[in-house]
Amino acid sequence: MTNGNGRSGPLVVIIEDEPALAESVSFALETEGFRVRSADDGVDGIALIRRHRPALVLLDVMLPGLSGLDVCRQIRRDSDIPIIMLTARDSEADKVSGLELGADDYVTKPFSMRELMARVRSQIRRSTRTGQYADTNEVLRGGKITLDVDAHEVRVDNEMVELRPKEFKLLETLMHRTNRLSTREVLIDDVWGATYFGDTKTLDVHIKRLRHKLEKDPSNPERIVTVRGLGYKFVDDQ
Ligand code: CA
Repeated sequence: MTNGNGRSGPLVVIIEDEPALAESVSFALETEGFRVRSADDGVDGIALIRRHRPALVLLDVMLPGLSGLDVCRQIRRDSDIPIIMLTARDSEADKVSGLELGADDYVTKPFSMRELMARVRSQIRRSTRTGQYADTNEVLRGGKITLDVDAHEVRVDNEMVELRPKEFKLLETLMHRTNRLSTREVLIDDVWGATYFGDTKTLDVHIKRLRHKLEKDPSNPERIVTVRGLGYKFVDDQ
């Protein structure tokens, strides 16, 4: 299960198998200006984190399949991203294990949204300060193309180019994976959401529009290249 969108604030991934709780936490986060994606099990959660590199993870301890503690251990293998564990009231052992495995904080269920939001903000502030996560002023560059995430501006050769919101998001996703394949599934999931069941031609139409706006010769693209049968790749050959 993936949801949430809306551009702007830092991204939070929630891994929680109780739909009502996941939903109310998502709502509270979105109200605070965060973007949210959620997963209801550990495997999907880890995939979301690897794909989207969120600013923070909210991680339930009691999950079906892979436990929250296993998920925490796996995240810590390759990431310092802040993790707040959501633990059951009577499970002192889970709190201790979570912190030992590298979680940054925990809240005990049932928690107030106000308390959770305060902890989320505090963890994100801390990680921003220590440079783990730089949300401000992210500028992606490739050849003559620059994309300023926060200003929501794209320039080619210093000339501002007008992109529609979906085109912008598509380019951002491609540039985050510069010189690496972005599969059709990743692009559709990222730009239109995992619940999108529309025509996959929509993606090709948006790629075509981007090429017209960004490429010297749109019919012979050098930046946004097709990887036949799989997806697209943003190429920075410099
Ligand atoms: Ca649970």
